[in-house]
Amino acid sequence: MSSRAPETLLGLDAADLRDRLGVPAYRARQLYDALYRRNVADLDESTVLPKELRDRLRAELPLGRLEVDRRFHSADGTTRYLLRLPGDGRSVETVLMPQDNRHTICISSQVGCPVNCQFCLTALMGLERSLTAGEIVGQVLHVCREHELDPRSQHCNIVMMGMGEPLLNLDNVLKATRILCDDTGVGFSQKRLTVSTSGIVPKIAELGAASVRPKLAISLNASYEEQRRELMPITKKYHLDDLMEACRAYPLRPWEFLMFEYVMLKDVNDTDADARRVVRLLANLRAKLNLIALNPGPGIPYGTPTPERVDSFQKIVMKSLPCYIRRPRGLDIYAACGQLKRMDSTGLVTVH
Ligand code: SAH
Ligand code: SF4
Repeated sequence: MSSRAPETLLGLDAADLRDRLGVPAYRARQLYDALYRRNVADLDESTVLPKELRDRLRAELPLGRLEVDRRFHSADGTTRYLLRLPGDGRSVETVLMPQDNRHTICISSQVGCPVNCQFCLTALMGLERSLTAGEIVGQVLHVCREHELDPRSQHCNIVMMGMGEPLLNLDNVLKATRILCDDTGVGFSQKRLTVSTSGIVPKIAELGAASVRPKLAISLNASYEEQRRELMPITKKYHLDDLMEACRAYPLRPWEFLMFEYVMLKDVNDTDADARRVVRLLANLRAKLNLIALNPGPGIPYGTPTPERVDSFQKIVMKSLPCYIRRPRGLDIYAACGQLKRMDSTGLVTVH
């Protein structure tokens, strides 16, 4: 199995299409409109494009849509997809979580993940490869088309919290973001797209310098250096102090908060003293905190705290900053945070 993704139409912006295909700018824009705004599954759905061009494209460059390998439906309405990537046959996890009249699409940025967080099932896969911009956008296009979701609706959100560490694939994540958040492209607003990182410190400033960028979430998960090193060994390379410094220097837009995530592990990082330390760490930041009680999985050596423990932690933090409890979605189908590892619904790792 090769680990190189083939070149596809998906992932190219209007300027790339013009240059790569040698077509006039207006044709490139029509093609861009068909690929992203109209979300066609086949170029023949676009009759504005001349038939000769469609035939030429078919022969020259694959469209690059993702195909469904498996679909798992949860009792709570969540759908977990295993989407097959064009070309090399690998597959990636994408999750759709409907709630009331809102839809959140959780997408992946890599196949597997090289960051070795001790509580996360994806970590056990290691990194197979990073996704291309087309494969990142392709996950959103697939889910929107299958569920007839309108990316321009206020009620449709994207979180890059699936498999992988997005800031270790920042160029492709930013290119995908520009296409997803272009009004003439897919049409999401930058306010409805969030990227989550384990804390790749030098890349945080690079993200902040991008003119089109998702909102930033930081997986904090610990209240002091030694604890974070144990849970997230990447801390040995990017220290907690430096991470907090990068957060303080981050150029928030006027409407933006920094979102911090904190996975609570029973008797490890879930005490009231941890909550008070977290408050001190986040002091003077325009921040919100999301608490996630550990979603357990085979091979994960931690337990889930009781709801009372989570409530007590939340109460302490709430005195100083907004603090929410993120309820697990799709637990029964291994779709919840940290559970993405190509499991079937019995918990067995499926082979693809
Ligand atoms: N790699 C990125 C984004 C994907 S992980 C990151 O780490 O931020 C998305 C979120 O799921 C992270 O906040 C992570 O801390 C959390 N998570 C990982 N494993 C989990 C588990 N077993 N239970 C609950 N949350 C988990
Ligand atoms: Fe990778 Fe995020 Fe899982 Fe850590 S929590 S191993 S960074 S996917």
